[in-house]
Amino acid sequence: MVRAVASIIGVPKESLPGERRVAATPESVKKLSSRGLSIHVEKGAGAEAGYADSQYVEAGATIVDSAWQCETLFKVRAPTVDEVGKLEEGAFVVSLMQPEKNPLLVDSLKAKKVTALALERIPRVTRAQKMDVLSSQANLSGYRAVVEAAAHLQGFMGPQVTAAGSTPPAKVLIIGAGVAGLAAVGAARAMGAEVRAFDTRAAAREQVESLGAKFLEVTIKESGEGQGGYAKTMSPEFIAAEMALFRAQAAQVDVIITTALVPGTKAPTLVPRDVVEALKPGSVIVDMAAEQGGNCELTKPGEVVVHQGVKILGFTDLASRMAATSSRFFAMNLVHLSGELGTGDTLTIPLENDVVRPALLLHKGEVLPPLPAKEPSPPQPAKPVVHAPRPDAKPQQEHIQSPNRSAWGSTLGGIFVIALLFGLGRFAPADFLQHSTVFVLACFVGWQVIWSVSPALHTPLMSVTNAISGIIIVGGLLQVGGGVDLASVLGVLAVFFATINIAGGFLVTERMLKMFRREDAAPSSSGGHR
Ligand code: NAD
Repeated sequence: MVRAVASIIGVPKESLPGERRVAATPESVKKLSSRGLSIHVEKGAGAEAGYADSQYVEAGATIVDSAWQCETLFKVRAPTVDEVGKLEEGAFVVSLMQPEKNPLLVDSLKAKKVTALALERIPRVTRAQKMDVLSSQANLSGYRAVVEAAAHLQGFMGPQVTAAGSTPPAKVLIIGAGVAGLAAVGAARAMGAEVRAFDTRAAAREQVESLGAKFLEVTIKESGEGQGGYAKTMSPEFIAAEMALFRAQAAQVDVIITTALVPGTKAPTLVPRDVVEALKPGSVIVDMAAEQGGNCELTKPGEVVVHQGVKILGFTDLASRMAATSSRFFAMNLVHLSGELGTGDTLTIPLENDVVRPALLLHKGEVLPPLPAKEPSPPQPAKPVVHAPRPDAKPQQEHIQSPNRSAWGSTLGGIFVIALLFGLGRFAPADFLQHSTVFVLACFVGWQVIWSVSPALHTPLMSVTNAISGIIIVGGLLQVGGGVDLASVLGVLAVFFATINIAGGFLVTERMLKMFRREDAAPSSSGGHR
């Protein structure tokens, strides 16, 4: 069932102290307006993220004194109970909700018959990645955690050798290598720090190592993979082994960044008081789990605690400290989500949609039952999954053939090839036969070789095909004689197509290299440090 809601989206100013983000930016307003939706942005809503009212107007929005009367609201944080009081009955609210922490809010939304979409409940499947605000914000927060650690550390992150003395790289321990943890590994490595990381999920090892950090282990064996590949609560023995590992690490490291979370529970305590006390004075802990109860025993959410010279940063607004970019990513997540809520100038609530339905906390004030589970399909041989198909995707009928038809096809094809070979052997000149045999074999071997190469190796393969094209050009040139005969024409064609392959190969390689080239890696100017 699909219910139409509204064509006007209100964007209020965030009221939570310290929240600088905004749920729409001029860029997202432009995209939403282009499909006919009207956007009403509250006066000054984007000011703290660096977006002026005039920019919103230029992008097509209307600036209003209060956005709360709109039928649809896009917000970053959950509305307060007072704010729910300002909503129209039956409004549609899209924001982070944290319903577990906020029972009063849920009651007030129910009383107003609100349809509430909790962004943290968007399923974390490949198809929904572009709408996943948890990931987009965790990525920024992980980076910012390293920046905050560097700002509070009384030294360099990377190694330094100067005339006045040298320092080794800072040693950074990252606990929890999910989206935020991996972003922190990347940022700390980019600053030149020596990084080690720990996670309970075995899958994290490869990701940590691919970023150039060391993956730590405990001797006790226990799988950290819970439902759907997410973390699960570990046994007390495992947690004790982890703490022993961190106690040993504390003597060596200068920075600890903790990101360990288990969905739906309080953050596990992994850095107790004695581990803090084992750190050198001047060390820094950034507890990214502060809002969920903290991974460090001494964390105070939103505060900086100094304990025996060790600073424990419990910031709960890391993404908000980069409000321009975090708002941009958040707003674009909402633009992508709007794509699921219809395509025209009206937003709809598709109750059967596999991304929208699980995220609907309330529908017209009521809790919806979960979507019926899909029929389990019969076991299939293991295949790499690339994308979950869209629910509206057409079944790929064209690939399905009945066994009888395919057997007939093969038989007829075989008879045709045998007849062709017989005809050629009987009537064609000997050297034509020799060349065509080489040609057919080359096609067959080339097809087999290229089709069985994994896509990841297509770039090196391109270099090889460039070399083959070079040989084809030489062969083609040798065939181009004085007169206009079949061999000359084929030779010219061979030279032409091989040239396209070589030139195309260079262009594609150049584009790929550009993607890896850093903007600042241009030849250094004479104005550098001396
Ligand atoms: P999270 O924020 O819930 O947890 C952070 C990390 O803490 C996780 O890696 C978890 O394994 C780790 N952790 C939990 N308990 C721990 C303990 N006792 N000690 C050490 N580490 C502990 O996780 P997240 O970053 O949101 O994502 C976790 C997983 O979900 C990753 O595999 C990620 O790739 C996947 N994911 C998938 C999608 C998608 O498909 N759209 C989107 C986001 C994340």
